[in-house]
Amino acid sequence: MFTGIVGNHALCQRLGNDILDNTLPHAMIFEGPRGTGKHTLVRLIAAALVCERKNQASEPLPCRCCLSCRKILEGKSPDLITLGTDGRVTIGVDTVRFLREDVSIVPNDSDKKIYVIEDADKMTVQAQNALLLTLEEPPSYIHFFLLCENAGFLLETIRSRAPVLRTEPIPTEQIDRYLCEQDKRAAQMKLSDPKGYAELLTSARFGIGQALDYLEPKIFAPVRQKRGLAADFVCAAIKEEGASVILPLLSRFSSKRDLLREQLLTVSDAMRDLILLKKSDDAPLTFYSDREEAIDLCDRVSIQFLYHLNDALRCAIEENTKNANVRLTLIKMAIAAELI
Ligand SMILES: [Zn+2]
Repeated sequence: MFTGIVGNHALCQRLGNDILDNTLPHAMIFEGPRGTGKHTLVRLIAAALVCERKNQASEPLPCRCCLSCRKILEGKSPDLITLGTDGRVTIGVDTVRFLREDVSIVPNDSDKKIYVIEDADKMTVQAQNALLLTLEEPPSYIHFFLLCENAGFLLETIRSRAPVLRTEPIPTEQIDRYLCEQDKRAAQMKLSDPKGYAELLTSARFGIGQALDYLEPKIFAPVRQKRGLAADFVCAAIKEEGASVILPLLSRFSSKRDLLREQLLTVSDAMRDLILLKKSDDAPLTFYSDREEAIDLCDRVSIQFLYHLNDALRCAIEENTKNANVRLTLIKMAIAAELI
C-alpha cells in the first residue's frame, strides 16, 4: 500500500493499486492551495513508480531506501523533470516545446520518466494547446503531474485528459497523532516547547515527511526564524507602525536573493491565511498556529488593505527573481503598500 501521506486512506489505497498494476493514468492534475502537500505527494508517487522493491509486499511503497527511491526523493534523479514559471508570470509555449522534444528521449535510470509542471494553471492558452497532443499520446514510459491551485484555469480539453486529485490541508490533530506515534521527539517537544510544537504542526501542512524532519532542531530553527520575521512584518504592517518600525524590520530580510524569496513567500503564506479569514473564521490556516491571534490581526484591517499589501508582496517576489537590487525591492514594496 502506498504510504507517506497522512489521511486520505482511500486515495492512498487507489494510488498504490494503480502503481502496482501499472494502471496509473499517464497524466494527472493535483489541485490544492499552496502548502497542502502537492509536491510531497507527487514526489512520493514518482518514487513509488520507480521503486526497486515495489513488488515486495512486506515493504512500504515507496520503500524510500533503494537507490531509485533515494534519487527521486533527494531530487537527484535525471528522470524526474520539474518545469514551472521560472520566475515569470506565466508558463509559455517555449516551455511546452522543450517538453515535447524532451519526452522522446528515453529515461536514464529506470523505465519511467516523470514530468512535474508546477503552477500548471499559469500556462498560457497557447501553451496548454501545445501540450494537448503530448498529453494524449505520450510514450509509454512518461508520466505528467500537473500541480495547480485552481484547475478551473486549465482548458477543459486538458482536464478531460487527466483526472483531478484535490489536496486539502491535513487537520492538525491528525498530524499531531501521526508525529507522536512515529517519533518520540514529538511528544517531548509537545511538553517542553508547546508554542514551537504548535508552529511545527502548522508547518507540517507542507508535508508530513517535512514535519518529521522538523523534529530535528537544526532543521526547524531556520524555518521558525523565517516564520517569526514574516509574523513580525505582517503585524507591523497591519498595525501601521510606520517607517521607524518597518525599516529596521526590512533590514532583517536577507540580502541573498534565494533566501529573500523564501522569506517573502513565508510572508505570502501569512497573508493568505488572513485573506481566507476575511471570508470565514473556520478557514484552514497554513501559517498561523494561533487562530485567535490571526483573527485579531484580520479584524484590524479591511480586505482591500490585505489585497493591496499582497499585491505589493507579489511584485516584490517577482522583481526579486530579476536582477533587481534586493534592498531597493524591499523598500519599493513598503512604499507600494503605503507602509512607509
Ligand atoms: Zn524503493
